[in-house]
Order: sequence, then structure tokens, then C-alpha cells
Amino acid sequence: MDRYNIVLAVVSGPEIAIRTWQENAPGRFIGGVFLGDEGLPEHSPNQLTGLVEDGVMGAFGELGLQYYGIEPDDPRMHEYYETAERLGIPVALHTGLGPPRGPHTFAPEFRTTLGRPSLFEPVLVRHPNLKAYLMHAGWPYISETIALMYVYPDLYADVGVLSWALPREAFHEALRSLINAGFGDRLLFGTDQMFWPGAIGLAIETLENVPFLSDEQKRDIFYNNAARFLQLSEEEIARHHGK
Ligand SMILES: [Zn+2]
Repeated sequence: MDRYNIVLAVVSGPEIAIRTWQENAPGRFIGGVFLGDEGLPEHSPNQLTGLVEDGVMGAFGELGLQYYGIEPDDPRMHEYYETAERLGIPVALHTGLGPPRGPHTFAPEFRTTLGRPSLFEPVLVRHPNLKAYLMHAGWPYISETIALMYVYPDLYADVGVLSWALPREAFHEALRSLINAGFGDRLLFGTDQMFWPGAIGLAIETLENVPFLSDEQKRDIFYNNAARFLQLSEEEIARHHGK
């Protein structure tokens, strides 16, 4: 993060891991809710409220519900969305695909169709003030992502994982579709770095080298859109720019 001037990151993991990161690098990490063995958050909505108030948690996600065969609008998630809306905390929903052979190996309940962004629509309808973003931009269901982002103007999408897991042309095509649809100011940079720190640099370099993006569009995706989405204060933004 220091090497690439990453000033702030949303990270998802067990509470103990998030606390460790935050203690080691204060102000650099927004904690994200972690899913336990059943595929639901390891904390209750009440516990999460406390962790948000204490500054440990700042995002409800990554919600990798698809890996557990759970639909975004599953009733067991309803109270979490209500809590996120009430606290003004972003919901980060995993959408799109997962690693090849997932259903035959680590995620027996995973189904490709559970990654469709449109499955999130009932949640958006019920929660008009929910702050949310579609992780991985719902690829390959980009037309559904476009439909949702058009109708719900507060919905954002991130490009995590797409920049390094897809063939370069497929990534460009998805990005171009979203930009051409008018959503350049609602795309968020993400790495989806998991076990491999090199993904951070690779994700940045891939985006830097997209031939059809202007410097301004890149700055929006790398920083400005996230600053607006996360409602960073003027002071925070000034501090980040000083780095
Ligand atoms: Zn994901």
C-alpha cells in the first residue's frame, strides 16, 4: 500500500484480523464484515452496530453469499441491510462469478446464477437510502449491472478481481460498457487481493494501462469516486493528498 500510495482500503476478515491491521496501521483500513461457516456474518446486527460505533467495522462486506448458495435477498440478511441503512454503512455484495471448479471443490453450494446483480434489486427497492456497491461489477452479467446502476443512481460497482483475473480484452470490454453507459463516476477501484499481495500492484498497473481512460477518469476510479461514496471529510481528503 505504501509503495502504490494506497491511502485507505476496505478489508474483509475475521474481527481479530481487522483489529490487528488497524492497530498496525491506524487510519488505513476500513473493517469489513466477515462471513462465518454458515455463510452469514459472524456477528449479529447488534454486535455489528457496536463495532461500527467503535470504528472497527465500516462496511458490510464482502458479502460472498453466492459461495454458500444464499440469495442476496435471503430473509436471514434482512436485518443486516436494515442496520447498514440505518448506520449509513456501505454494503459490499459479491456479484458475478467465482473461481473455476468452485462447486466441485471449496464451495459446493455455489451457483453461477446466484451472482446475478438483479437478485439484489428487492433489497435496493426496500432500502432507498442503502449505500451499496456491486463487487466485481457483476461480471459477466454486465447488462444487469448497467440496468441496476441506471435505475438506482446511488449504486456503485467495483472492478476488483476483474483487472487481473480476466483476459485483458474482456476487462476492457466490461469497463468500456460501464463507462459508455455513463457510470465513470460510480466505479471503484478494488484489488480483491486474497492470498497474493502481488494482486495489488497488478490491479493498479492494469487500470493505469487502459488505453481509452483519461487521467481524470483514472483518478475518479482510483480515488474520487470512493471519497464521495465513503463520504470522506475535507480533512481526510486533504490528508490523503498530502501523502
Ligand atoms: Zn468476491
